[in-house]
Amino acid sequence: TFKAVIREEVDGQPVTRIRELGLADLPAHDVLVDVAYSTLNYKDGLAVSGKAPIARSLPMVCGVDLAGTIVESANSDYKPGDKVLVNGWGLSERHWGGYTQRQRVKSDWLVRVPDAFTLEQTMAIGTAGYTSMLCVLALEDHGITPDQGEILVTGAGGGVGSVAIALLSRLGYRVAASTGRAETHDYLKRLGASEIVDRATLSERGRPLDKERWAGAVDSVGSQTLATLLAQIKYGGAVAACGLAGGNDLPATVLPFILRGVSLLGVDSVMAPKAKRERAWQRLASDLDQGLLAEMTEVEPMSNIFALADKILAGQTRGRVVIDVNA
Ligand code: NAP
Repeated sequence: TFKAVIREEVDGQPVTRIRELGLADLPAHDVLVDVAYSTLNYKDGLAVSGKAPIARSLPMVCGVDLAGTIVESANSDYKPGDKVLVNGWGLSERHWGGYTQRQRVKSDWLVRVPDAFTLEQTMAIGTAGYTSMLCVLALEDHGITPDQGEILVTGAGGGVGSVAIALLSRLGYRVAASTGRAETHDYLKRLGASEIVDRATLSERGRPLDKERWAGAVDSVGSQTLATLLAQIKYGGAVAACGLAGGNDLPATVLPFILRGVSLLGVDSVMAPKAKRERAWQRLASDLDQGLLAEMTEVEPMSNIFALADKILAGQTRGRVVIDVNA
């Protein structure tokens, strides 16, 4: 048997608990993974605490990410001993996830661990960091280059924000970091931010068209913050929008789009096609400073998951949290 964080009905009520499972409990997918690490993302906080109905059916093993070593494979492209990771694909929503010491997954979901990374480092990146890379790729594909001006990163102290700052600054962009936590300022500068923006200035309703300040932005906050920053994007610029830490509404006008040609680029990591994922992981291997990745990461035991879930929902998590499923 092995341990898993599972959401299930007990006496007619959904609860999340850690309990023992056996291999016979696992779903019938074609690859069995000896999981080493998972991660803590905002969505994991929602799933574990039950604050939002992330699981579409119960029982459900939580955890949107996993990294580990293949034990058994019915797909000849993968062999026992191969190091692999999974991000998203409905883990913890429609399929059993990564907060477990063993899991069966579909080989279609697997990404091979890049040579540049250990299993632990891939989960230091996790869904949050891979999503940051997807946002950077979206801005690059839109044609945004470092000479066009500053990039604003919102939710800067969080997982998506921290990795985005490290990536953008390494790629030569000037980065402004928006945060609500004064205690993160030095940390954000170490990651590569050259300017700090108080997030309160973005969460107030502003003018439909404000002064043009940013060539682009990576936004993990949404709501009024996204509306305000859209009004501050330079002519022809773009925002890669991936999150809703501040709310899922968007109280904006169309003026930035129709008068300044600003683009709103939606970024989804969960159902992103395999080729896009492989591109993102290759770029993470070449463009993410591993010293900065270590700086933004802490490793926590799976036994702490309930406190960690509350912490990320309260906006108290700094950077990235790796979950050691064997502790
Ligand atoms: P996280 O570590 O909790 O980071 C979120 C950050 O947002 C917080 O650290 C905080 O930064 C800021 N924040 C929190 N509450 C806020 C509020 N009410 N108003 C303004 N700012 C607030 O979470 P994460 O894992 O990085 O995820 C960030 C967001 O991206 C989440 O909404 C998540 O669901 C989304 N996401 C989406 C995808 C996708 O596929 N589209 C993938 C991954 C994540 P400061 O304290 O520095 O201000």
